[in-house]
Amino acid sequence: MNKLNRLYALTSRRTFLGRRSIILTRYWNTSKKMSGESNDLKWNDALTPLQLMVLRDKATERPNTGAYLHTKESGVYHCANCDKPLYSSSTKFDARCGWPAFYEEVSPGAITYHRDNSLMPARVEICCAKCGGHLGHVFEGEGWKQLLNLPKDTRHCVNSASLNFKKD
Ligand SMILES: [Zn+2]
Repeated sequence: MNKLNRLYALTSRRTFLGRRSIILTRYWNTSKKMSGESNDLKWNDALTPLQLMVLRDKATERPNTGAYLHTKESGVYHCANCDKPLYSSSTKFDARCGWPAFYEEVSPGAITYHRDNSLMPARVEICCAKCGGHLGHVFEGEGWKQLLNLPKDTRHCVNSASLNFKKD
């Protein structure tokens, strides 16, 4: 098994079992207001039941089923609920983890970070900064920067159901 495949395998284990996730402590204090606002969130009537389960109820779509897993076209991924731009296609990479992966958000403040204690060790949940919709989780230090020559060693693991892609 070469180095890249070993990393893919390691990433999959981390994704499914939550092992060795790196906790991004510096993000914890950036999003305190989210929980207090949850009752006031408005949900788009056009959302499918799956999208509502993911965005509102923080469910995770089944791996390798999302509409944007293999999308390589140029454009911007918007929040499926409120239409806020969240990720540029230029930051998307193939992590073979079963969900779309990005190394950073489209602009500072586009998303918020929250500690998620639903699995041990705790993970870092990412949400739309405008509406609070659940996007997925973020992981750091997995080795993608070196292997794929990315600007950052960060993987935003995002549900396709949370996104709406708009081509350039
Ligand atoms: Zn949103």
